[in-house]
Amino acid sequence: MASAAATVSPFTHLVHPSPTPDEARRMILGAPGFGTAFSDHMVSIDWSEGRGWHDATIGPRRPIELDPACAVLHYAQEIFEGLKAYVQADGGLALFRPEANARRFADSARRMAMPELPEELFIESVKEIVRTDREWIPTVEGGSLYLRPFMFASEAFLGVRPAKAYKYLVIASPAGNYFKSGAPAVSIWVSEDYTRAAPGGTGAVKCGGNYAASLVPQAEAIARGHDQVVFLDAAEHKWVEELGGMNLYFVFADGSLVTPPLTGTILPGITRDSLLTLAREEGLEVREERYSLDQWCADAESGRMVEAFACGTAAVVTPVGKVAGRDGEFTIGGGGPGQQTQKLKARLVAIQRGEAPDPHGWIMRLD
Ligand SMILES: *Cc1c(COP(=O)(O)O)cnc(C)c1O
Repeated sequence: MASAAATVSPFTHLVHPSPTPDEARRMILGAPGFGTAFSDHMVSIDWSEGRGWHDATIGPRRPIELDPACAVLHYAQEIFEGLKAYVQADGGLALFRPEANARRFADSARRMAMPELPEELFIESVKEIVRTDREWIPTVEGGSLYLRPFMFASEAFLGVRPAKAYKYLVIASPAGNYFKSGAPAVSIWVSEDYTRAAPGGTGAVKCGGNYAASLVPQAEAIARGHDQVVFLDAAEHKWVEELGGMNLYFVFADGSLVTPPLTGTILPGITRDSLLTLAREEGLEVREERYSLDQWCADAESGRMVEAFACGTAAVVTPVGKVAGRDGEFTIGGGGPGQQTQKLKARLVAIQRGEAPDPHGWIMRLD
């Protein structure tokens, strides 16, 4: 209900008894990797039927105790978000389009029969942790503080219905480059035995369940010597959809771009949306249009399609160099990062880091 927005509770600050010593933190921030190190604090807000959202706190990051009957452990009512805080060119701190994450989190909650966290409370929670753990933003090239807001059903109950209690948490992880450096472009494996999302399912929702289902095909890709898996649509096994956690773009020799349309089975990426705007601003034609695997292969061979890239918050923009499937493989362009791909990535990164003007109001400064 919209009225919930009016009852935003302030955050209670709990003091950390033993934060990570400076020396140890500096070691971590020198080579942060992705998703392995965490900052000292976390945000927590509870929801229960009758009380709504309550007990908003920011305090020491610590394990959470769950009843063995906790609903999320059985029926996977869980959603999450991923966004980053950046140090700006002038030394200040900023988030990139957090209101878009807040809106998507609410959309995800509705689809998973969970209560919506008011969007302003989502944004406040993210700001709280960035301000508190600002010392955790790595200053290495490409560094940022990756934020992971998530919510799960916390009621102890084994019946099948939406839970009556939820926990919302935000944790933060210093991030370097997502893909191990060295590879100029990734190689992707087309999954023909598995699909990611079916019409009417949860493909457009950022829920853990989608990821659980993508792990076997992803492992298959790795076992075959590739970096990532690409999924086709579930109905015809023909149309290219996205990777396990990134959207796709195709760049043509005539300068135009294509990205698969948001039909409900594709996750509406904020990076995807931002690049759509930036490419159009450059005067490039961008079509949100279905693109088949057969066409992709034919276009790569004829030279009609010259670049492809994957995009998402974690890895930003990643060139795709090679595509392989049961019936063989093809190389895209020269197999390395394409010009248009690098240009779009540079444009986006410059805005995120406050090195270029922000005409769309995407940057939310924290100080
Ligand atoms: C999060 C995610 C993306 C990328 O979304 P961004 O908002 O750009 O980070 C793409 N595909 C899937 C399946 C995702 O979960």
